[in-house]
Amino acid sequence: MNLFQSVSGEYEQRLQRAEALAKSQPFAAEILNFYSAIARFQKSLYSHIAADRGVQAAAAANSPLRDKLDITLVLPHFRTFLNVAETHAPAPLATAARELSQQPPESWITQLTNYWRAAGLTDEHAEAFAQFFPRAFLQPYAEFLGQQFTKPTLLVTATVCPLCSGQPYMGVLRQEGDSGKRFLVCSFCSQEWEFRRILCPTCGENAEPKLPVYVPEQFPHLRVEACDTCKSFLRTVDLTKNGHAIPIVDDLAALPLSLWAHEHAYSRPRPNLLGT
Ligand SMILES: [Zn+2]
Ligand SMILES: [Zn+2]
Repeated sequence: MNLFQSVSGEYEQRLQRAEALAKSQPFAAEILNFYSAIARFQKSLYSHIAADRGVQAAAAANSPLRDKLDITLVLPHFRTFLNVAETHAPAPLATAARELSQQPPESWITQLTNYWRAAGLTDEHAEAFAQFFPRAFLQPYAEFLGQQFTKPTLLVTATVCPLCSGQPYMGVLRQEGDSGKRFLVCSFCSQEWEFRRILCPTCGENAEPKLPVYVPEQFPHLRVEACDTCKSFLRTVDLTKNGHAIPIVDDLAALPLSLWAHEHAYSRPRPNLLGT
């Protein structure tokens, strides 16, 4: 029996959701088709990582998540990943993939390990394009490790991920009892933790009139949860309104919400994978 949680099935759900959304929301089809190519690669890398005994031993060890990376395990797959990106990405990213594939492995190691060490931390410069390659490539690894931790019991409200200190990049509302509970999703290890409904994770504002929520008429399961004090916003997928949504995929497709937030001068503290 494998004691390690393996949820490569989640990747299959993401792929199916991306395909369905690409059909129903043609404005996001290009983004979603690119995402699907990346997610197919991630799914196979995830299976490889989850089956590795060295990774399993590191996951079981009592050490911080960010100490558990074995770069030599995934490095042989980086060139394949760059080929996938070059084939399916929009032009500027495809060019960047080609340039990166010509660099020596030592340079890849530096970029990947630097990302792993600093990603999602407050002093890290976060720009979707710049961090795309290490983020998309290492996401399955961080996600697998994050899944092996027992969910910590939070005694205080945590504004960063309890497992890896990464900042949240989006939110999820899940039905629990007769109301929706709010969770934040970590920008590094993709794990969720519970968070108060009326509280800005960026600045701590807790006055309801300062925390406007925008729900577009045509997509009632998507929300912009904004803060007038620090002018930040978090996009949130409301699973109580649509149980078929897959948060990380629906967030990528939520382009109209970015427009709204931009028009109202709210900015997102952390980008999603594709900067949408
Ligand atoms: Zn995390
Ligand atoms: Zn705020």
